[in-house]
Amino acid sequence: MADDNSQRVALVTGASRGIGAAIGYALAQAGRHVVLCARDQDKLDQVKQQIESTGGSASVHTCDVSDGEAVTALVESVAGEHGRLDILVNNAGITRDNLLLRMTDDEFDAVMQTNMRSVFVACRAVLRPMMRGKFGRIVNIGSVAGLVGNAGQTNYAAAKAAIAGFTRSLAREMAAKKITANVVAPGFIETEMTDVLPDKVKELAKGATPVGRFGLPDDIAACVAFLSSDQAGYITGQVVAVDGGMTMC
Ligand code: NAP
Repeated sequence: MADDNSQRVALVTGASRGIGAAIGYALAQAGRHVVLCARDQDKLDQVKQQIESTGGSASVHTCDVSDGEAVTALVESVAGEHGRLDILVNNAGITRDNLLLRMTDDEFDAVMQTNMRSVFVACRAVLRPMMRGKFGRIVNIGSVAGLVGNAGQTNYAAAKAAIAGFTRSLAREMAAKKITANVVAPGFIETEMTDVLPDKVKELAKGATPVGRFGLPDDIAACVAFLSSDQAGYITGQVVAVDGGMTMC
């Protein structure tokens, strides 16, 4: 099935760097108008300029996704401005790693608020515009930590596992409306999030990755671009690990 001829509009959170920026480029290359969201306006502007320099179409909205009202307002404003919202990629995420014995309430709550609650609010807000358009692609970015756990990341793994259960339930609710919802669960990807990890942790991660290298943001973006295409309409409620084989069973 060929893509709809009119330009689909995609909203990508956490698009100022790393995986989210790569998703922005990939969706723009696929012909979408991409709305880039994060907190850092300057970095968003740089991503927008790069997309436009290669002939793509993008705009920028700053938003802190831990603020539910701001997320709802963002979705409404994008849908209002463009008269449609076809694709949502919930990618914004943070880590606040600590062993559970030492984990503070703030570390737990911050990760749940930014990584999970934002997904609930954004997905709820896009359903009406997607139902009006009789089309929708929702891709939520999970993590292999949500599948197999990771010491020091009980908060992060809980949020990412919750995203998987949430997305499967949403997929069941919306399947008949031509709206799909899937999770992409990255393995160890080279970004600012993983740059800060000690070398020992990086070596362990590489050793646990059968393909023998760290992933790149483009590895994740390619999968998101496919799951958000018209051709992926028969794939819903799935958690796709893009992890170099780390979690194969
Ligand atoms: P990153 O380089 O740290 O980028 C995180 C992005 O999220 C940035 O654009 C940041 O922009 C944005 N963000 C953070 N808090 C936000 C907030 N409150 N409101 C709006 N935007 C916010 O991380 P990454 O590695 O690209 O990770 C992207 C996603 O992949 C995350 O969900 C992460 O959990 C997941 N993931 C990453 C890996 C990996 O190995 N890198 C593995 C598994 C899963 P601002 O700071 O400008 O707001």
